[in-house]
Amino acid sequence: MGKYFGTSGIRGVFSECVTPELALGVGKAVGTYIGGGTVVVGMDTRTSSETLKRAFVSGLLSTGIDVIDIGLAPTPLTGFAIRLYGADAGVMITASHNPPEYNGIKVWQANGMAYTPNMENELEKILESGNFKKAPWNEIGTLKKADPRREYVGKALEMLHLDGSYTVVVDSGNGAGSVLSPYLQRELGNRVISLNSYPSGFFVRELEPNAESLSGLAKTVKVMKADVGIAHDGDADRIGVVDDEGNFVEYEVMLSLIAGYTLRKFGRGKIVTTVDAGFALDDYIRPLGGEVIRTRVGDVAVADELAKHGGVFGGEPSGTWIIPQWNLTPDGIFAGALILEMIDRLGPISELAKEVPRYVTLRAKIPCPNEKKAKAMEIIAREALKNFEYERLIDIDGVRIENSDWWILFRPSGTEPIMRITLEAHTEEKAKELMEKAERLVRGAIERA
Ligand code: MG
Repeated sequence: MGKYFGTSGIRGVFSECVTPELALGVGKAVGTYIGGGTVVVGMDTRTSSETLKRAFVSGLLSTGIDVIDIGLAPTPLTGFAIRLYGADAGVMITASHNPPEYNGIKVWQANGMAYTPNMENELEKILESGNFKKAPWNEIGTLKKADPRREYVGKALEMLHLDGSYTVVVDSGNGAGSVLSPYLQRELGNRVISLNSYPSGFFVRELEPNAESLSGLAKTVKVMKADVGIAHDGDADRIGVVDDEGNFVEYEVMLSLIAGYTLRKFGRGKIVTTVDAGFALDDYIRPLGGEVIRTRVGDVAVADELAKHGGVFGGEPSGTWIIPQWNLTPDGIFAGALILEMIDRLGPISELAKEVPRYVTLRAKIPCPNEKKAKAMEIIAREALKNFEYERLIDIDGVRIENSDWWILFRPSGTEPIMRITLEAHTEEKAKELMEKAERLVRGAIERA
């Protein structure tokens, strides 16, 4: 992580840290880095998005890059448009699930996946140096406007088909999903009830989809006797689901169900997830011919693994799902349509969810100064074997130790001075016993670090 780029592109409060001046500079840096060609630019519904987008586009044009401005667009539509127009990159002006005063910039590659941390470092270097490419007057980039929604829906309908028709409540949270998600559901043949779909930049609910923020959606599903409720964060790369009984479906359960469905639809293969995902996924998909691969936390790591080694599906427990047959951009809108196809083929989610195994998950946060994190992690990895009898150790992102019936993940927070412990076991008793030992290990390691 650098001065500007964090765990998901540039993110911060508008006019304090994310300014039009910064957007102009990042636009020049992206143009200089790519060196030529075309870039697709989209933005979410935030009140500051238009001003940031114009500054950013100005920077791009000044380096000689041609720009296709798709205006108000969810992240997955921008990802789709990059490939549709054969562009060299895509950029989203968005702060995802952050509060309305935030905004940000996230850059996407030609293949639809986000820029890797290495690529962001290169952008950062160019931005810091101020050595931007300067196009002379007769080589300045051209600006075109486009709306790829019709093509997006058309392509999605080539891949998805429903025999029945369902009542779907779509809660876009006043975010960018408002301009696409309800329309795709309607074109699939469903009856759609739209909630919070006025794209004003003023958010009625918290943008992070969870049981609390989706209580309005849950009530609506119940009252309208709908078959399902789907909700998005501000840029609709994520999805949260409410079942036919009006209950929020836990993320781990939904991850298992959708991974299982992609195996049924596309055939057996690899399922990519992150080190913080539980065993329910492994146990649920094994009989369906799936094999789980765990990678670092974050959509870039998941997309990277899918691009390198192939796979049927990639998803995080946060509701960020990648369907590689569709695109390498996480797509909560296409995912919503896929869920309807699953319901059409297999039945209501409340019934399907009963087949997903439930285990006990415990989480703890232990204060740890940032400068001690690296040393403490070293000690934890070294001493884990003395404290626990485990079969495998995975250290691609923090340290995860696992057996056939439990796992523990030790991982320093990227943003706060804390060390996180996440663990899962088959019984409450075992989980508590493991947590006591794990906390002792972490406290001891921090003391000696
Ligand atoms: Mg998002």
